[in-house]
Amino acid sequence: MDETIIRANLARIWERIASAATRAGRDPANVKLVAVTKNRPPEAVRAAYACGVRDVGENRVYEALEKQAALADLRDLRWHMIGHVQRRKARDVVGRFVLVHSVDSVRLARELDKRAARANVSRVDVLLEVNVSGEPTKYGFRVVTPEDEGPFLEAVAEILSLPRLQVHGLMTMAPLVADPEETRPYFVALRRLRDRLTEEFPEEDWSQLSMGMSNDFEVAVEEGATIVRIGTAVFGEQ
Ligand SMILES: *Cc1c(COP(=O)(O)O)cnc(C)c1O
Repeated sequence: MDETIIRANLARIWERIASAATRAGRDPANVKLVAVTKNRPPEAVRAAYACGVRDVGENRVYEALEKQAALADLRDLRWHMIGHVQRRKARDVVGRFVLVHSVDSVRLARELDKRAARANVSRVDVLLEVNVSGEPTKYGFRVVTPEDEGPFLEAVAEILSLPRLQVHGLMTMAPLVADPEETRPYFVALRRLRDRLTEEFPEEDWSQLSMGMSNDFEVAVEEGATIVRIGTAVFGEQ
């Protein structure tokens, strides 16, 4: 993987993040870029690291663990789990990722908490993944209609009671659309849901909104994303 291309791509992405943040009256420093390295070889991750990337996102547990082993010398590289985690893989996630963006059920949350206790890991930092579009192919707590809110708040209350799980906010994936502008309502919905949770559970941390990918990150930043997860725009089409 050509480091020169990655460096140029990253510079362009940062310009676009900065413009989007500025348009929305936000400080671009409050947006974190997670470079999505799924399906990319360890050398590509190493090249991104050489360009200053310190946060990388993987969507499959075992692929991530293999790359972590191959790149163990990059000690300050932070690994994010952004994909669906099956419950039987929860123990492989605990202690190995700086943030799990994809907690999408109470059962997974309970399992992570239990595995953390067994492994003597005091804290698992997570986001709750929300399906705000209602697309049946998407993971996440489904919150589309007002009637979905009650059950979701109950689920959140239970997750917040798990001693080793530390929730920091929400994550979503917008539908794939041709015009990124069409994603805006989904990002607005996630932000409003976050505001609702802040009212409901004011003592908790709801600061993080993980939303926006290669096609739609500017809209997401305009709508309050604090973390964008970008693969293709960094590493190229695959
Ligand atoms: C693949 C992936 C991304 C990045 O997608 P790009 O379009 O390549 O930027 C972001 N989030 C999740 C959960 C992903 O699986």
